[in-house]
Amino acid sequence: MKIKFKNTLLVFKVIKRNYPISRTSISHLTKLSLSTVSRCVDYLIKAGFVNERGQGDSNGGRKPVLLELCKNSSFSVGVEVGETQVNFIVINPSDEVVCSSSVRFNPGESSEELFDLIQENFFFILKENNIDLSKVVSFGIGLPGITSPDMKTLIIAPNLNWKQIPVSTLLEERLNIPVFSENGANLMAFAQHKHLNLDKNDITLGIIIGTGIGAGLVLNNEIFHGGTGGALEAGHMVISESSSHCNCGRQGCAEVLASVPALLKRFSAYSENETLSLENFRFALDRGDQKAFKILEEEIKYLSILITNLVNLINPTHIFIGGEIEIIGKYMIQQLKERVYGEALTPNKIKLKISFTNNEEKDIPYGAAALAMEQVIDGHIIRRK
Ligand SMILES: [Zn+2]
Repeated sequence: MKIKFKNTLLVFKVIKRNYPISRTSISHLTKLSLSTVSRCVDYLIKAGFVNERGQGDSNGGRKPVLLELCKNSSFSVGVEVGETQVNFIVINPSDEVVCSSSVRFNPGESSEELFDLIQENFFFILKENNIDLSKVVSFGIGLPGITSPDMKTLIIAPNLNWKQIPVSTLLEERLNIPVFSENGANLMAFAQHKHLNLDKNDITLGIIIGTGIGAGLVLNNEIFHGGTGGALEAGHMVISESSSHCNCGRQGCAEVLASVPALLKRFSAYSENETLSLENFRFALDRGDQKAFKILEEEIKYLSILITNLVNLINPTHIFIGGEIEIIGKYMIQQLKERVYGEALTPNKIKLKISFTNNEEKDIPYGAAALAMEQVIDGHIIRRK
């Protein structure tokens, strides 16, 4: 059953920040009527997110009943489908991580094989951590591709070679809980937005740089999908005249110039004796290899063009850069900021903050779990009697 009462999520967020709290105080803080607040609270209690606890101080009349969060009766599971592994996380309504784990996943495997792996590990993790299945209210999955705005379908994932897969429906059949599918970069932006308690005045842009380049945006506290899910395909923004062809058919896309494979290709010209990896590139930087620093400078140049374009276009207040590239973030951040702050339009950089993430591995599954839980609270999907 799905009936949309937007206010439930608002009421839940107020309880989360201010508990123990009475219905009357929630009504004051949210400017919602007491009857609306009560209806939302009834749902939250029924669904296991909120509890009534004792009574507060009265101002002379009847003592108000206080509400608090239930930390151990509702859980949300989040999954990130990475390039070589699948990462799992379980959170409670307080957004605390209850447990997490990772399993290897080989690129080239089919979506059915992925779903088998997810199903098996989902039940394994719950059992290992003594979490009753009936307490799991939602499941989110972060995918390296374009997902539909209704968070049900993977439209295309070029690096996995997958197209038009109804991920949520197929996983719901296996797990028997509501499943929400979302692009990984969107979830990274969403997770950072939540971690920092940013609000609707903050516009959060996440950029993931790995085999490809993807971006995600949080606007008005919500993920921005564009008309059909393809917003923020920043990797396909042309940033230079170049003869290199991109998968998308154009030339000079950010993805062919600034992704990790592009950086490693330049590195390969200097490092015949070394295995081509970002770790080895970082070792070269660690030992002060000047040629490696020259390659890094080129990487920073391309990224700064891309990021400056995005700053001028979107005017974000926060930019988080994550993905594989973050292991060399400390060598890039200063110069990258200087270039972007130097080149971006003045009004667009007044509130701008740029940083590398340091927990990217957890951002995406965490964002998936948190988003899925919010969707259930917001969408009134009642599972329990
Ligand atoms: Zn392209």
